[in-house]
Amino acid sequence: MANDCLFCKIIAGEVPSTKAYEDDTTYGFMDISPKAKVHVLLVPKQHYTKVSELAEADPAELAHIVKVAQSIADKEFNGSYRLVFNTGEDAGQSVFHVHAHVLTGEMMEE
Ligand code: C5P
Repeated sequence: MANDCLFCKIIAGEVPSTKAYEDDTTYGFMDISPKAKVHVLLVPKQHYTKVSELAEADPAELAHIVKVAQSIADKEFNGSYRLVFNTGEDAGQSVFHVHAHVLTGEMMEE
């Protein structure tokens, strides 16, 4: 657990969240400020700051997150979804524990 990391605290249950998914390596919760009908954040339980760091250190976990995203979209919609990793402050990353935004549940604008 990284010091002062909000998502590490959410994973540990120290900060409340609405759980959407959990297994041994991955936690999913509903985004508090949803940008789609269904907006889930998927995070590895291990702390990595950004997606390229995760890809380098644990590619199987990154592939697992993609599979979980697909399963959420299959369950909540028709299998269509957006998967977004904001990376770096200038791209809108505000929490520096890698997280996949899974946006689904409705037709998306282009
Ligand atoms: O990509 P970015 O780092 O901006 O995404 C962080 C996301 O975490 C935001 O969509 C924000 O709404 C969400 N969030 C949350 N629960 C918190 C704090 C932030 O769902 N307690």
